[in-house]
Amino acid sequence: MAESATVRHCRRGGASGVPASRRLAPRAPRPPLRSHGNGRRAGAAGPRRRGGVEMEPAREAEEPPGSPALPAEEPQGGQPAGASPGEEALPAAAGRERGVRGAGPQGPGGRAARGRGRRGGGESGRAGRRPRVTVDSSKAKTSLEALKISLRQLRWREFPLGRRLPCDIYWHGVSFHDNDIFSGQVNKFPGMTEMVRKITLSRAVRTMQDLFPLEYNFYPRSWILPEEFPLFVDEVRMLKDSDPSWKPTFIVKPDGGCQGDGIYLVKDPSDIRLTGAIPSRPAVVQEYICKPLLVDKLKFDIRLYVLLKSLEPLEIYIAKDGLSRFCTEPYQEPTLKNLHQVFMHLTNYSLNIHSGNFIHSDDANTGSKRTFSSILCRLSSRGADVKKLWSDIISLVIKTIIALTPELKVYYQSDIPAGKPGPTCFQILGFDILLMKNLKPMLLEVNANPSMRIEHEQELSPGVFENVPSPVDEEVKVAVIRDTLRLVDPQKKKRKDVQCQALEQGPEEPLPAGPAALPSLCLKQVFPKYAKQFNYLRLLDRVAVLFIRFVGVKGTTKLGPTGFRTFIRNCKLSNSNFSMASVDILYIDITRRWNSMGIDHKESGMCLQAFIEAFFCLAQKKYKSLPLHEQVASLIDFCEYHLAALDEKRLVCGRGVVERRSAVVPCQTDGPHLTPAAHSPLLNRTATAGKFADDRNHRYEQC
Ligand code: ADP
Repeated sequence: MAESATVRHCRRGGASGVPASRRLAPRAPRPPLRSHGNGRRAGAAGPRRRGGVEMEPAREAEEPPGSPALPAEEPQGGQPAGASPGEEALPAAAGRERGVRGAGPQGPGGRAARGRGRRGGGESGRAGRRPRVTVDSSKAKTSLEALKISLRQLRWREFPLGRRLPCDIYWHGVSFHDNDIFSGQVNKFPGMTEMVRKITLSRAVRTMQDLFPLEYNFYPRSWILPEEFPLFVDEVRMLKDSDPSWKPTFIVKPDGGCQGDGIYLVKDPSDIRLTGAIPSRPAVVQEYICKPLLVDKLKFDIRLYVLLKSLEPLEIYIAKDGLSRFCTEPYQEPTLKNLHQVFMHLTNYSLNIHSGNFIHSDDANTGSKRTFSSILCRLSSRGADVKKLWSDIISLVIKTIIALTPELKVYYQSDIPAGKPGPTCFQILGFDILLMKNLKPMLLEVNANPSMRIEHEQELSPGVFENVPSPVDEEVKVAVIRDTLRLVDPQKKKRKDVQCQALEQGPEEPLPAGPAALPSLCLKQVFPKYAKQFNYLRLLDRVAVLFIRFVGVKGTTKLGPTGFRTFIRNCKLSNSNFSMASVDILYIDITRRWNSMGIDHKESGMCLQAFIEAFFCLAQKKYKSLPLHEQVASLIDFCEYHLAALDEKRLVCGRGVVERRSAVVPCQTDGPHLTPAAHSPLLNRTATAGKFADDRNHRYEQC
């Protein structure tokens, strides 16, 4: 997980939950302090002394280093039919755009803001001037500094203490629920934090792996502990038996952990720490990627910023530059001797900053945190196919978000039911990606609250720290926040109109204040741009729409037994072979199992993932001979057909009342699906189910 606003404690002591074997070694002497720019924030908090074991809260969760800009295009992962993406390559403009780096107070935006400040006037401006966009930053937490710089560049109006009247935008540091909001836009989606927890993300990706094993092979093989411990043991044994040369390593990551907390490596399932018969904390255990790409002999990962601008319709943007976070000890493939060496195996900034080898980056190309574009430049100069790499990354991002959207839609309708006042949402996500030696990107995790801090701590003397600006962070993060705001600007349309008028009126009329001096956007739209290539993967969005329809009248995320029965009846799924009594048994069996996993005890009933499992069972029953994704697609078609017919009948009968209560409308993916007979292979692809996908699919067959 990425950074959250959680207070963190020093790992240096012993109370951190980091296994003793992995506690940080005594710190080597730090390299001499370097000067960081003008140090304008250096003393902001002043040197602080930390005592004993406790460390000050809120070090960042993750960050990467990195540098130059990214070209990109043509996702190749999908190999779907249709649109060819990427006519244009992403300009390797990061460097140029980073010119705004000075941005903040010292950059062009800042200067412009000061220079023309007199026009900023009141919130609604003087006569004839457009009102300024208002932003409530009272809950921004650690992203405040970067947000302030962005707002100055945009010349928008900040309300650091909140505001009695509604604001256009609410910037939250942690979650959707930081504030009660009934209008405007908020930078968090309800449920996102829950969705990207390690276990939930693994489940969501795995469901997609069951459907599309080849397309979702960018996520390491994972098992959820404790409930899948026996499965983990069995599968590893089977794999070892079938391939004696396979000498795997596994990484155990506690659910809800961040910044490397509690993570450890093992060579054998029996090494997993057990309390009694089960692992002590819910966790994900994953196959460890043993052959990462190295730069300067060091392992590194990439933090990429992704903007989910809208859920319905789906709109995704990727930042052209990100950060690369480096380990601080030369990498060696895992052996029993080096498994515990965190500075060699874990790329977390928050861990490596404690290494004596950590180098604060003064520019984008060096140090322990660099821009991703600097890595790409380097790879490119070595002849690597950087365009393909970008394309694979875009694919990975889109597919991951497609795995998350079904459940996000359920959360959304629960928190912002249709017809009720509520804000619209957008969110910046932090994608952590590891490049394998062969340049294949692998998803490590998604962060709902990626660190947006633009300063780092330096230790002046043992135990005494001060905050100093981090140019690399500022360069990347301010651009991401500023350009996110530009993309969600509520006055964009109005401004266009006003600018046209102003131009028509001649040069005397002052142009409305706007971000005219800003560089081109650092965020690049990838969806719906490449929708045609990926829409075939969005089957579960349609299952979620069915689920939401039957969930009930009050804002909830769970389906009750009556709702499930109504679903079966309205979709005409019961028959002499599948009685309503069997329906009830199916509901009870699956719901009980999911609820026993202890995911969410707040509400009773069937969660979306359980419904999906039931749906897969029904699909397998009904369409035995097809591959799973075709079975599911066929059943969706069948259900949608009957529900549409039912709605029509009700309309004709004058009832006009349908169960549908959600603002979430069926997503348009592969066009209308109204003919149950038209289930002919919807998808022109033979997704050969992988061995384990087969095993897991067996789950659905059993019901
Ligand atoms: P956290 O949220 O605690 O940072 P991550 O999943 O990001 O947890 O893992 C922490 C670090 O461990 C990553 O930054 C990466 O360096 C390393 N790591 C995680 N998963 C793997 C994996 N499957 N293979 C290799 N390295 C991994």
